[in-house]
Amino acid sequence: MNTATDRLANVMNDIRAAETEHSRPTGSVTLIAVSKTFDAEAIRPALVAGHRVFGENRVQEAMGKWPGLREEFDGIELHLIGPLQSNKAKEAVQTFDVIHTVDRPKIAKALKTEMDKQGRDLPCFIQVNTGEEPQKAGIAPKDVDAFIKDCKENIGLAIVGLMCIPPVDEAPGEHFALLEKIAARNGLSQISMGMSSDYQTAVGFGATHVRVGSAIFGSRDYT
Ligand SMILES: *Cc1c(COP(=O)(O)O)cnc(C)c1O
Repeated sequence: MNTATDRLANVMNDIRAAETEHSRPTGSVTLIAVSKTFDAEAIRPALVAGHRVFGENRVQEAMGKWPGLREEFDGIELHLIGPLQSNKAKEAVQTFDVIHTVDRPKIAKALKTEMDKQGRDLPCFIQVNTGEEPQKAGIAPKDVDAFIKDCKENIGLAIVGLMCIPPVDEAPGEHFALLEKIAARNGLSQISMGMSSDYQTAVGFGATHVRVGSAIFGSRDYT
């Protein structure tokens, strides 16, 4: 059991088991297979196995491999899970179906402008910096309620949920709990949290989308 297809099936089984364990409806958690750094060749087996929901963290990299894969396979849903620069908004809206990393008004406005131009109304998640780490993207927890309101009421972006990446050196549970609380008080139904090391935990805290990379595709080579 060590091909990407086997590992994908294992992760999916783990998610279904975690749903049952935490009294979540079966199928309430979507697995985003994070294929960053892997080429079309490495991704194709997961598509052949029937998986359709993928995540990438760089616009440029996604533009290089996904248009070709979309020609080969129908029904692909591609999620942008990495930081976005406003000068890449056009390409992001062209390339992706869901954006997880809206974290400041400038990005929200740039995305809205592009969506209007392209006639594409993409669902968006707001990234929250739950650990308040200076080097990490995401809006501070204290500012998030006002930002959600601004995005919905003034900017006109379709905000569907929240996303977080907990600090690497902390137990993720309290970050997942915080994100769930912020989502609930703002009436947002979707929560993007949980990666290879903690997706089962995230299901217990109400994740609707887990983003799993290395547990499916293997360790990444950045050289
Ligand atoms: C790379 C990445 C993931 C997947 O990480 P793994 O630990 O390989 O599962 C999830 N979310 C984001 C934002 C990422 O950049």
